[in-house]
Amino acid sequence: MIPAAFDYVRAGSAAEAISLIGEHGEDAKFLAGGMSLLPLMKLRLATPSVLVDLGRVRDLSYVRDAGDHLAIGALTRHRDLETSDLLAKECGVLRAVAAQVGDNQVRHRGTIGGSVAHGDPASDLPAALLALDATFVLQGPGGSRSVGANDFFKGFLETALAPDELLTEIQVRKSGAAGFAYEKFNRRAQDWAIVGALAARVNGGTHVALVNMGAIVLRARAVENALEQGASATDAAREAAVGTDPPSDLNASTEYRTHLAQVLVRRALEAI
Ligand SMILES: Cc1cc2nc3c(=O)[nH]c(=O)nc-3n(C[C@H](O)[C@H](O)[C@H](O)COP(=O)(O)OP(=O)(O)OC[C@H]3O[C@@H](n4cnc5c(N)ncnc54)[C@H](O)[C@@H]3O)c2cc1C
Repeated sequence: MIPAAFDYVRAGSAAEAISLIGEHGEDAKFLAGGMSLLPLMKLRLATPSVLVDLGRVRDLSYVRDAGDHLAIGALTRHRDLETSDLLAKECGVLRAVAAQVGDNQVRHRGTIGGSVAHGDPASDLPAALLALDATFVLQGPGGSRSVGANDFFKGFLETALAPDELLTEIQVRKSGAAGFAYEKFNRRAQDWAIVGALAARVNGGTHVALVNMGAIVLRARAVENALEQGASATDAAREAAVGTDPPSDLNASTEYRTHLAQVLVRRALEAI
């Protein structure tokens, strides 16, 4: 459980972080809350030669009303989302989902940007952001670009981020205080979801996202289509596993996850 040797540099601003990562090449990695990266390093599944610490880049920690949407700084910690009055009013689903990430210690260290950039299909906030059709702002040496959540998650722990790009902001539409439900199934309260199902009313429709049902967080499009055609919650939920590729591991078999997805989607739909 001891990581391989690495160098450590601390960035004071987003621009400095991007310049430092460029200087140190592809083996360098950003360090945000360290809640996902450090365990990987301890297991030697990640062996970056340099860590660029983002901990002092304070101007990327905020939740702001940006008129027609909310803007969230990538370094905003889960705890700050969980206690945000603005989120409670304008995007209750993100606040509620943030409160279900890990335990208090994890939520005080982990950041929304780290959660998104890590690209773990078992994580909670990326599924909520997928359901909300969020936009991610990425900044690199050549400028910034925006990528929709639908195009961002590419594969297991793989995203649209280039090695020298920093995720700076997450933009979400205002979806109100209510009209959502997140069903997270786990053995202990602080664990990752064995399967999670999130349903949210967005722009007059119902969006459904799944956690841990494939290599990336997924939209349950077959469920959404069935609802659009007037299916009941029970009938629509039967489509929950269509297009998924659930893993089999120590926690659950593929068949069990398939069953869970249908049950959890039904519960989430009934709740909203
Ligand atoms: C015990 C435990 C329980 C947990 N339980 C849950 C859970 O139930 N649900 C859940 O969703 N998560 C859970 N997590 C993970 C937690 O949410 C992490 O906070 C999150 O996955 C990563 O955020 P971080 O800020 O710690 O990122 P880090 O670990 O610092 O970084 C993760 C990756 O993202 C990259 N990165 C970080 N920030 C940026 C950025 N701004 N731009 C570009 N790249 C960046 C890093 O280089 C690294 O590759 C748990 C973690 C632990 C240790």
